[in-house]
Amino acid sequence: MSDTIFDKIINREIPADIVYEDDIALAFKDINPQAPVHLLIIPKRQIATVNDISKDDREIVGHLYWVAGEIARKEGFAEEGFRTVMNCNEFGGQTVYHIHVHLLAGKPLGWPPY
Ligand code: 5GP
Repeated sequence: MSDTIFDKIINREIPADIVYEDDIALAFKDINPQAPVHLLIIPKRQIATVNDISKDDREIVGHLYWVAGEIARKEGFAEEGFRTVMNCNEFGGQTVYHIHVHLLAGKPLGWPPY
């Protein structure tokens, strides 16, 4: 599996505005924000798409969502609400092939997203 731009962020080869890190996950600001708050929460382990999440990865993926809630509580927008999105492949709009949870917040978000 080839490295993506997110591996370079994990390895500190390119800069990112990192807001959370632990052994399993990293969260940083999206370079092209679509809401007042737009963070990406990624696993340190490289998993290309939702289709590639194995049974052994379930704890990692659950952890990404725990991190989302933890950031929302700490940053004070948990109660007003937010959106988490994981895009998959072409029709899902995925452009970086290292799974990531988009965490969007800070304004009412439209639905459906098209
Ligand atoms: P996707 O389209 O795969 O769901 O989301 C990829 C996201 O990564 C996009 O929202 C895009 O703006 C963001 N992104 C792409 N390259 C970089 C980068 O080098 N740094 C940061 N912080 N975000 C990036």
